[in-house]
Amino acid sequence: MTTNPPTIERRQDEFKRSLFESGTVLESTLVGIALAADRRLAWVNETFARMLGYERAELTGQAAAILYPDGESFELFGAAAYPLLKSGRPYVSEQRLKCKDGSYIWCQIYGTAVDPRNPARGSVWTTVDISERKELQESLQRSLAERDVILQSTLVGISFSVNRRHLWVNETFATMLGYEREELIGQLSLMHFPDLESYEAFGYTAYRILASGRPCVTERWQKRKDGSLIWCEIYGNYVDPDDLAKGTIWTYLDITERKRAEEDIRAALGKERELNELKSRFVSMTSHEFRTPLATILSSAELLEQYSARLPPREREDLFRSIRTAVERMTRMLDNVLTIGKAEANMLQFSPVPTDLAKFCGRLADEIRLAAGDRHAVEFSCEGADAPVLVDEKLLRHALTNLLSNAVKYSPGGGRVEFRVSLGEGTARFEVRDHGIGIPPEDQARLFETFHRARNVGTIAGTGLGLAIVKKSIDLHRGSVAVESAPGAGTVFRVTIPLGNGLVSAGDERR
Ligand code: ATP
Ligand code: MG
Repeated sequence: MTTNPPTIERRQDEFKRSLFESGTVLESTLVGIALAADRRLAWVNETFARMLGYERAELTGQAAAILYPDGESFELFGAAAYPLLKSGRPYVSEQRLKCKDGSYIWCQIYGTAVDPRNPARGSVWTTVDISERKELQESLQRSLAERDVILQSTLVGISFSVNRRHLWVNETFATMLGYEREELIGQLSLMHFPDLESYEAFGYTAYRILASGRPCVTERWQKRKDGSLIWCEIYGNYVDPDDLAKGTIWTYLDITERKRAEEDIRAALGKERELNELKSRFVSMTSHEFRTPLATILSSAELLEQYSARLPPREREDLFRSIRTAVERMTRMLDNVLTIGKAEANMLQFSPVPTDLAKFCGRLADEIRLAAGDRHAVEFSCEGADAPVLVDEKLLRHALTNLLSNAVKYSPGGGRVEFRVSLGEGTARFEVRDHGIGIPPEDQARLFETFHRARNVGTIAGTGLGLAIVKKSIDLHRGSVAVESAPGAGTVFRVTIPLGNGLVSAGDERR
């Protein structure tokens, strides 16, 4: 048997060199490497020791458990890792390892068994210090969480959307619209617009503004999940003006209460303006209408003062009567002014009582007949009024008396005045017809406004308050008034009052 010593030596040299080289590689790598067997660190490289603040000699032979915060976490690690290693698979995880000085570093760990079939041969572990990356990750997560808290806890609803679809919304936005966040995310904003038309109109305006590089600020109605509407102040801006596809940030502020308050203020101002107008119209009416009766009173009083003794009793009586009539006229006017003032301030009392309409209206007809004199024939008829009904007698008297006195007043040549009352089908109907001067069509629409008088009244006295009071009185009865008239031919006023609908007839009540 021949041997070849030079060849053996060469092989031995090569083997030593390769061992040395691989040792150098293991030593100079940035990765920590440890060989563990029987739960001990059999060998560690320089990087592994330095990573944890040890000298290599301090770790070699040590129990692996010293790298763990406590015994329990080491056991948990073992329970997770060893079954894998035994089955020939690697164990990979990120773990906190304990340094010599008690501090911790985050490591990415990769472990494999030297020989899965023979656990006694131990396992090889490589570790990379990932503390810095972890810290960055944690601080990023922290700042994301902080941002989330800020965005979630703001009073403003916020949505991030792309192509009008919500990709993210905050809690406030969802609550504002009565949804859960999950119900909105991924949906088109169409779902919270009142209708398709308003959605499209908004899109058209908003995206044109945004495309021109300006933010979009607007106020719109939005629809909540329950169908109710809220007013929102909406502010939108592109995330990146140079790349519109990156989406838009929208903020929504519920301004329903503010809008309501604005509307209330506007209504109150309108009401005040109306009352002011009423006041000035009242001043001009009284200065005009009070002049005539006052002049009558003054001249009659002067005549009585100067010639009382010489006047025949009949003429004296006439003078006293004209004073009384003038005072009555002024009292009536003041009464009307007072009533309309109350009505405008919504202070008119509505107190219905059971009323026998046939008797009540018959008396009104008698009074008018008496006041009208012989030139007018007041005809009264009543049908179906066999049971009392609930009406406010004071208001109804006001309304019907004015309609009847108008019919007489605006028929200066005399003639027939027909007053018809009929009850049936839960309704009371009143009709006052005359054959007088009539009302020009242009004036008919404004008749019920305070102080409005038609252009054809000539010298017939009046304040223009009567019909306004009629309207208010009938409104309180939830009824309606209609007029039909032709100049020169005559006029019909028709009043209808429902007797059901909250206004029960007294007969029904007794049943
Ligand atoms: P008053 O306050 O004294 O009643 P007025 O009769 O002028 O004054 P309204 O009763 O409110 O006021 O009527 C308003 C206007 O409607 C009248 O001025 C008149 O021009 C017109 N009008 C009302 N009733 C008739 C009628 N039967 N025929 C013709 N015109 C009428
Ligand atoms: Mg009148």
